[in-house]
Amino acid sequence: MIQFSGKTVFSGVAFAKAFLYLKADLAVDATPASDSGVELEAFRAAIKTADGQLEEIYKKTLREIGEEEARIIDVQRMMLVDGDFLEAVEAVITGEHGNAAYAVDKTGRQFYELFAGLDDPYMKARAPDIADISRRLTAVLLNKRTDFTLGEASVIIADDLTPSDTLSLDKKYIAAFVTRGGSTNSHTAILARILKIPSIVQADIPLDKKFNALDAAVDGHEGIIYLEPDKNVKERLKERARKDKAEADSLESVRGLPTVTKSGKKVELAANIGSVEDLKAVFEGDAEGIGLFRSEFLFLGRNSAPAEDEQFEAYKAAALALGGKRVVIRTLDIGADKQAAYLGCEAEENPALGLRAIRLCFRMPQLFVTQLRALYRAAAFGKIAVMFPMIASLWELRRCKEIAAEAKNSLIKEGITTGEIELGIMIETPAAALCAGELAAEADFFSVGTNDLTQYTLAIDRQSAKLDKFLDTHHPALLKLLKMIVESAHRAHIWAGICGELAADKEMTARFIEWGYDELSVSPAFILDMRKRIREME
Ligand code: PEP
Ligand code: MG
Repeated sequence: MIQFSGKTVFSGVAFAKAFLYLKADLAVDATPASDSGVELEAFRAAIKTADGQLEEIYKKTLREIGEEEARIIDVQRMMLVDGDFLEAVEAVITGEHGNAAYAVDKTGRQFYELFAGLDDPYMKARAPDIADISRRLTAVLLNKRTDFTLGEASVIIADDLTPSDTLSLDKKYIAAFVTRGGSTNSHTAILARILKIPSIVQADIPLDKKFNALDAAVDGHEGIIYLEPDKNVKERLKERARKDKAEADSLESVRGLPTVTKSGKKVELAANIGSVEDLKAVFEGDAEGIGLFRSEFLFLGRNSAPAEDEQFEAYKAAALALGGKRVVIRTLDIGADKQAAYLGCEAEENPALGLRAIRLCFRMPQLFVTQLRALYRAAAFGKIAVMFPMIASLWELRRCKEIAAEAKNSLIKEGITTGEIELGIMIETPAAALCAGELAAEADFFSVGTNDLTQYTLAIDRQSAKLDKFLDTHHPALLKLLKMIVESAHRAHIWAGICGELAADKEMTARFIEWGYDELSVSPAFILDMRKRIREME
């Protein structure tokens, strides 16, 4: 037995096979080839192999996910045999004596730039397909793997996982995550908490291939992963799992009860979700509403943005499922650690301070309007509220409201039914917190994103594992801002909630209630426990 440790992101116990998630290193060697004929043959054989792989993925996607997603793979198969691309690769092989992998890599990059620079949104959106194809071909030529499919329950061991990596894995087979990097506030950690997946970040585990398929046990309470656990460890962890289950069962006593302190102070306990699949967790958790639906997760782990109808179906499903309880949907917050390559955004020096969230939506108005139209259509089916992320200035809120009104009017003109929507903002920049009074006069509600508010107030990258010890989520500067925000909201007679991870911090709950926060939105898994504690408070 060997063991490694790290920081817990979500507690709980898991037993499954270890699965090493290694991203292939596809660095190509630029050494010219001695025989172009051999390289041409290798390239043509690689096309056949890649096509066979794509055919398999196509069939699997069609069977398990749906026609629309499968079509993406079909498009890639067509691009794989596209004459221009083939000719360009062959020209590098014959003209420059490039080896096949070098020729594919070089041509793939050139075509990526070419597509990404086009104005036509459809053609632009093909840029990541070209990148995928050339990565696949390069991997075939270098004899490396690029696809990861989990066929059984697995403990994923990785260097780090982006939200797209996490979303592209089959969730029903993820028993636990153990990553070498990552921070407890990263989006992958947030997803793990929503999905109730025992997870450890910053683990001291090497990515050793021989760990693959070994029996693994994860103790998410202590932040330890055991490989080939011995009998004692297994017994202890099974006992711990039984205890977890008994604790969870004891929380059932507060299911359906109001969240109110003994002295009668009420607070709404809402859920944070990232997809329609998480609605199940909302009910299991007994949430009183949805306080944060991170809509951008609908846009990640795929090759093109979801169309208006697809978004409408997702928002409508949430609205209907909540049966009149409020569903707060946050508009697209792409950028920083949440990247969608098909949007073709340039790399930035400081992505957390860059073109993200509302800034990106203003740059790509079509994307924003499509989402707002889907939201207004869904609002006819339940109580939807919408909030805008990363607001720093009053003009941004005003611009958002104008675009929202335009989106609604366009639907009305087309005779499409719409519903009423409360329009609020996330307070997650110090600028918004300090101008909360002015913003409250024009917003319908506030929801504080403490993850980013902490990052920007303390000037600490929330993604950085190295800076964790400086990330004081109880820093007096942050607490002052939090108190100011709710006071400003109430002076303007609007409600205020907290939807960042701090909302679930047990040490803060009494203070948030005392300051008057109307809503705390947390991972659904925490709701019953919080309600029980709040009902025991004075
Ligand atoms: C936040 O910043 O606290 C928040 C809720 O948004 P996200 O974590 O998605 O950036
Ligand atoms: Mg945020």
